[in-house]
Amino acid sequence: CYLEGLPLLYRKSVDTLSPYVPGFQPAMDGSVIKINSNENPYPPSPKVKELLGGFDFRQLRYYPDATSQPLRELIGAQHGLSSRQVLCGNGSDEVISLIFKVFFEQGDTVATPYPTYTFYKSVADIINVKVAFVDTAEDFVIDLQGLVNTGAKGIFIANPNAQTGRLLPLQSIEELLNRYNGLVVIDEAYIDFAGQQSSAVHLIGAYPNLIVLRTLSKSYSLCGIRVGFCIADESLIHAMDKCRDSYNVNHLSQIIAAAALSDQPYLETTVERVVRSRDKLEDELHKLGFTVYPSHANFLLCKPHQRSAADIYNYLKAQQIYVRHFDSPRLSDKLRISIGTEEEVESLLRHLRQYLGSDA
Ligand code: PMP
Repeated sequence: CYLEGLPLLYRKSVDTLSPYVPGFQPAMDGSVIKINSNENPYPPSPKVKELLGGFDFRQLRYYPDATSQPLRELIGAQHGLSSRQVLCGNGSDEVISLIFKVFFEQGDTVATPYPTYTFYKSVADIINVKVAFVDTAEDFVIDLQGLVNTGAKGIFIANPNAQTGRLLPLQSIEELLNRYNGLVVIDEAYIDFAGQQSSAVHLIGAYPNLIVLRTLSKSYSLCGIRVGFCIADESLIHAMDKCRDSYNVNHLSQIIAAAALSDQPYLETTVERVVRSRDKLEDELHKLGFTVYPSHANFLLCKPHQRSAADIYNYLKAQQIYVRHFDSPRLSDKLRISIGTEEEVESLLRHLRQYLGSDA
């Protein structure tokens, strides 16, 4: 529907799009348990609080560093790479958008496993890039040969994979890179929960067609500042830099990100706590009769058997416990539960036991 008498001002294909729908965002008061968006239940590093406490607000009249140079240098140094191999963005979502803008055009195809992070398709749809979904196995193992066989110009793999938590071993990524020379994007939004040894960052020097994506949203508890980055060969970063928005990462976000990245001991402690809770939740869900899929991320995908996933979702929602339910193939009979604090996990389990009538 458009104003009568006026020509259509936006591209016709926009009519076919729908806006991104995040997990339900309740007003957060003390009793709400929000475990539906894979946010970290613990606060960011105390170094962030310290920084903000001493922040001189007058600095905000200046534009931020246009290229996020100090942040790039820090990230480069942390990975033994040059700042010219790093690009920062307004969340890794912005970096994903930028990758589509720089590497693909109308009519191209990118391949990605199904299920996976839905934002890849959302961005592809905007610029009329086709997405070839390659179904994962029953246990959600990714079919690498299937991805290559699509003949796509690029392959996107979230590792650990979104919605499933399944980790693709580094060796498999290397095998993929050895037989495919299109663009390979490994989205490591959750890699800190899987262990750094699983990261494809180690392969950057050897494969100029590889982009590794990271975010500070999950393991660094900084969804709110919107900082993500990618690491790749200098030539790819240079191409992306030319297409980036000016000042794409604001000043506060740049300095907060640097403070958090500099506090690696805090990151390790937080990740350890989350992983411990994840393992405990997995055990308890098993006892309650759920099928739980092996996860290396900060969430668990699980399938209930006594009641439908939708019923459990609605029951928990009525108790102000928000988990994620995707009404899409292979996921609609499952729930995705982000790992909360120890207390939140306990409360979730208490409500589940009550609802499912189990004294497990
Ligand atoms: N990649 C994956 C696999 C994700 O799950 C998410 C978070 N929804 C993102 C990227 C985006 O993260 P960011 O907050 O950095 O935009």
